[in-house]
Amino acid sequence: MSAITPLDSSTVSDLRTAVAGDVITPDDESYHTARALWNGRIDRFPAAIVQVTSTDDVAEAIRFAREQELQIAVRGGGHHVTGSAIVDDGLVVDLSNLTTVDLDAEARTVRVGAGCRVSDILSVTQEHGLAIACGSAAHNGVAGSTLGGAIGWVRRKHGLGVDGLHSVELVTVDGDVLTASETENPELFWGLRGGGANFGVVTSYEFDCFELGPEVAVAQVAYPAPDAETTSDIFRRYREFVADAPDEVTSMALRTFVPPFPFVPQEFHGAPIVMFFGVYAGDVAEGETALAPLREMGEPAMDLSAPMPFLAVHEIANEMFPSGNRYSWHSLYASELSDDLIGRIAAAGESAPGHEVAVTAWHLGGAVSDVAADETAYAWRDAEFLVSIDTTWRDPAADEAHLVWSESTWRDLRESAATLEGFYPGFPGFVSGEERSQMAYGDNLARLAELKTEYDPENLLRSNLNVTPAR
Ligand SMILES: Cc1cc2nc3c(=O)[nH]c(=O)nc-3n(C[C@H](O)[C@H](O)[C@H](O)COP(=O)(O)OP(=O)(O)OC[C@H]3O[C@@H](n4cnc5c(N)ncnc54)[C@H](O)[C@@H]3O)c2cc1C
Repeated sequence: MSAITPLDSSTVSDLRTAVAGDVITPDDESYHTARALWNGRIDRFPAAIVQVTSTDDVAEAIRFAREQELQIAVRGGGHHVTGSAIVDDGLVVDLSNLTTVDLDAEARTVRVGAGCRVSDILSVTQEHGLAIACGSAAHNGVAGSTLGGAIGWVRRKHGLGVDGLHSVELVTVDGDVLTASETENPELFWGLRGGGANFGVVTSYEFDCFELGPEVAVAQVAYPAPDAETTSDIFRRYREFVADAPDEVTSMALRTFVPPFPFVPQEFHGAPIVMFFGVYAGDVAEGETALAPLREMGEPAMDLSAPMPFLAVHEIANEMFPSGNRYSWHSLYASELSDDLIGRIAAAGESAPGHEVAVTAWHLGGAVSDVAADETAYAWRDAEFLVSIDTTWRDPAADEAHLVWSESTWRDLRESAATLEGFYPGFPGFVSGEERSQMAYGDNLARLAELKTEYDPENLLRSNLNVTPAR
């Protein structure tokens, strides 16, 4: 264990008296469970974790951290790959107890606590045939992902999570409780939708719902990719498919390897593949027709395509990316899948250091691009693709090989003329300081810095993709 500066026991007692939730310190049995994150590579030792139960607890926890001069981290679902939800020697505001889901099915809105996972929300809304725009993994916290954008399974039809956000309740670093929406504190609401971890602690989110499911048409099909030329060929055919796809079709293509799933015969584990996932936001039969070309690009290595519950689509990521593995995830945006970019993706697949890595092209456009780049803080509306480098492994001895591959792949893909300047805050890049903020927030950074000056001038909330105050 790294050296932790322990808090004075009477100080901790004061905090325990002041909040209704649990206060966990290194002396507590639950400490190691409470500090564990999805990314098993992150091993940090906070001075205290406050498992808040209310907005009052959040305000008290912030007050305490300021008084004790402790750095603050905010934990939603604890899934950010950088582990920014936990800080060494600091105070963690852990929101995981805030899991209420209040659905107004008639008004088609749902208010959710900031500790909710995607599955907590969809399991309630889907009972009424309703859904929200959110990230694509069931176990993801809705808190952190919504504040960064939230790129989900039906993004091309229904936009990003930030586009379906109606209002939030937020505790400022001064302990004030505010509502932010289009009509109340609209500038703050603008900043929260993409640059959101910088201005306070959000305690609840209100989303608009739309009709979808419970069953949706899904394509899940993989083709053998024994060499770079085959990979490139399949990606070029994918490019043709998405060029004509309606907004109801949201899809992605991964250069990866057959995962070690128990239902896949062992001799196929680790075989190189190009895998497609596609979801149709609409009628199931129409969807099966619209997705069919993804299944007709040759002889598949496996084809699990079938209608399935929309909630279950989100559980695929739980299987593929379980808690506790080692992860290093990065991204960039592209204006097109040019031959050159495809060639670089194919080459990265050939040089992969292990069988649990992927280079993934997420098709964007549609409703994502219908919103102007300065309408919310999420800046990358014009990008046609997000390309993520999803590096996963298990053995600490393999850290270096995977980190080196991840970084060299990211840098190589950035050399392509099709690549844009930014990255998705949920999957950051290999840069630091001002360049990192610029790449996360693009042309919206200066406006975010003004907001930061207003709401957090001392930059107390900096365990995040940080915006430095303008003054
Ligand atoms: C398996 C997996 C799949 C993913 N798939 C997608 C996807 O499909 N689409 C997508 O968009 N993203 C995806 N992501 C990325 C995801 O959006 C981010 O990891 C996101 O941060 C997860 O939210 P969280 O609440 O779990 O994060 P946390 O790690 O808890 O928080 C991340 C950061 O957000 C801030 N934060 C969290 N909650 C609050 C709050 N209430 N108020 C203020 N600040 C807060 C904090 O600074 C914190 O450090 C995926 C991640 C994983 C691990």
